Amino acid sequence: MNDRSDAPRGLWGRWRSMLLWKQIFLALAAGVVIGVVLNQTGNEAAAEAIKPIGTIFVNAIKMLIVPLIFVSLVVGMTSMHDMSKMGRIGLKTVALYLMTTAVAITIGLVLGAVIQPGAGIDMSAAAAMEAKDAPSLIDTIVGLVPTNPVSASAEGNVLQIIVFAILFGIAINMAGEKGRIVRDFFDSLSEVIYKLTSIIIGFAPYGVFALMVWVAGTYGLELLLPLGAVIFAVYLGCVIHALVVYGGMIRLGGGLNPVRFFQGVLEPQMVAFTSTSSSGTLPVSMTAVQRNLGASKGVSSFVLPLGATINMDGTALYQGVCALFVAQAFNVDLAMGDYVTIVLTATLASIGTAGVPGAGLIMLSLVLTSVGLPLEGVAIIAGIDRILDMARTALNVTGDAAVTVLVAKSEGELDQAAYDTPHVLDSASLKEMRG
Ligand code: ASP
Repeated sequence: MNDRSDAPRGLWGRWRSMLLWKQIFLALAAGVVIGVVLNQTGNEAAAEAIKPIGTIFVNAIKMLIVPLIFVSLVVGMTSMHDMSKMGRIGLKTVALYLMTTAVAITIGLVLGAVIQPGAGIDMSAAAAMEAKDAPSLIDTIVGLVPTNPVSASAEGNVLQIIVFAILFGIAINMAGEKGRIVRDFFDSLSEVIYKLTSIIIGFAPYGVFALMVWVAGTYGLELLLPLGAVIFAVYLGCVIHALVVYGGMIRLGGGLNPVRFFQGVLEPQMVAFTSTSSSGTLPVSMTAVQRNLGASKGVSSFVLPLGATINMDGTALYQGVCALFVAQAFNVDLAMGDYVTIVLTATLASIGTAGVPGAGLIMLSLVLTSVGLPLEGVAIIAGIDRILDMARTALNVTGDAAVTVLVAKSEGELDQAAYDTPHVLDSASLKEMRG
């Protein structure tokens, strides 16, 4: 995607025609500079005065949470409706996807706890926080099933909404032809909700600017180091997950050479890294797993698109790091039950995360809500989200490819000779694949 060139000239015109992530990044940078200047010149009150614009943005994100999670999860489930046809392969695929996602978020949480990206700052005074009693593990599990889905929505109980949405989606699939109208209705509703989401995200540069002026105005330069630490933790986590989890699965689970695997997925990784969309990368992933890694058409054309829709390991890992960053920065102690809730929410929510740029940021608000962390954290992360999105999307597509290779191997549908042939990237074939 390029900036639109037919836009009107002038500063405002140039701003309007700029890509959204660039707008948000500029807003972050400008907000930090202005906030630090206000901070150093003793004008904290001015920084405080601009905060309401940011609060409106945060409220708008909150407004989206319940409809977005419900509708996108129902659609995520109904998009798997022909999974039953695939029987064993379907089950294997979904189990692997969910397991790797749960591991990814655990790695994110561990890195967040070890690196402590939010430890340097204390923003606890900054957010109106709802104090929550930490639930015990068993309460978390019992509490998964809502007694009343409407009150679960009204209370914003994210996990219960997720569970209801998944069951509802399964029921639509089981109803078959008779459930078709409801399925179509949710397909259409999801388009409307995505539209609404994009309207609100379009407001992000202004919300992010206001919140950054306020945060930097209050905390000054102290803030920059923690944001750098978040980026470091997410990138490190992605590398660890790819090498250890996927490398290990390929080696131990598939008896295959992991080096060949990483050579073979380099192309989709690069496209994902630059486009930040795993759905958009799908054609490239498809070519790579078939041509470079020798997975059969039958397996890959089922497993990969499903992965681009429901498998988001990078996104889950990022949510783990960011949740801990927010907890540390806002001085919230998380109990064991909270960690379990985060793992469950992020794993299940990944089913409903669309493979498009920035989707993970919205889902982060779900994860934070599930354990009562302040959503101001989302706006702070938003400024650096593009940089994080690049790494997590690359990991997302790597995970899809790893599971595809494993499933193909276990079904006897992997062309070993093709897998073993080294594929060196050449720019002509990459161009050809990108069409
Ligand atoms: N951009 C990611 C993807 O397409 C989703 C996310 O925002 O985390 O996979």
